[in-house]
Amino acid sequence: MGDRGTLQTFLPVASQVSDHGAACCFAARRWLGALDRSLSFRDGGWHPPTWLRDRYSWGPIHWPLFWCQVPAADVLDCGSLAALATELFRVRGEVAGSVQLILRYPRSATVGWAAMWARAGLLPTWIHEECCYHEATAIVRQGDMAIWDPTESRWVESDAALRQVYAGLVTIRVGSDQFPAGAVIWAGQVLPLGEWVEFSEEQRHAEPGAAVDAAPRAGPRC
Ligand SMILES: [Zn+2]
Repeated sequence: MGDRGTLQTFLPVASQVSDHGAACCFAARRWLGALDRSLSFRDGGWHPPTWLRDRYSWGPIHWPLFWCQVPAADVLDCGSLAALATELFRVRGEVAGSVQLILRYPRSATVGWAAMWARAGLLPTWIHEECCYHEATAIVRQGDMAIWDPTESRWVESDAALRQVYAGLVTIRVGSDQFPAGAVIWAGQVLPLGEWVEFSEEQRHAEPGAAVDAAPRAGPRC
């Protein structure tokens, strides 16, 4: 199994924040939703929850994470930030779910992040050479998907699939349990749910709306 295959099996589904099923977590979720309204709703409309990265540093955490731990946390990782942003978008009434990504970075960056995780006593298993496992939040309206990256506080645009860009998108998986339809459309491509879809040179230049061939393929090390 190559690097990409290793990362694709890193987590079978996107990260989930756990719930004690008691008043502690209920109150924490209510509080987070209220905070989002106070910080993200202005001028008569909702804005992306950029306050998450003002409030939380990005870094390693120990899982599981419960909702009642979130208000007092200082640090969250990409999976917990995505789960939190997904929750906030759902509270707003959006159809939202976490998406799993594999992105390519310069080796100098991934070496530094691996050292961060090691210092926290955690294995940097989400990193393989230049490739990183990542999570973000998808919002789907009438089948069209937008991706909000709460770690970077930005929308993931279709040019993320260009290999020369920083944080270049290698593959993506939209959870099959998160959305009612069997597929979503992103960057002019149909993405089947629950499958890793690779953004290859041909697929980036495919006709808008063309189905993506999700079959495994041999390719350069990602
Ligand atoms: Zn709790």
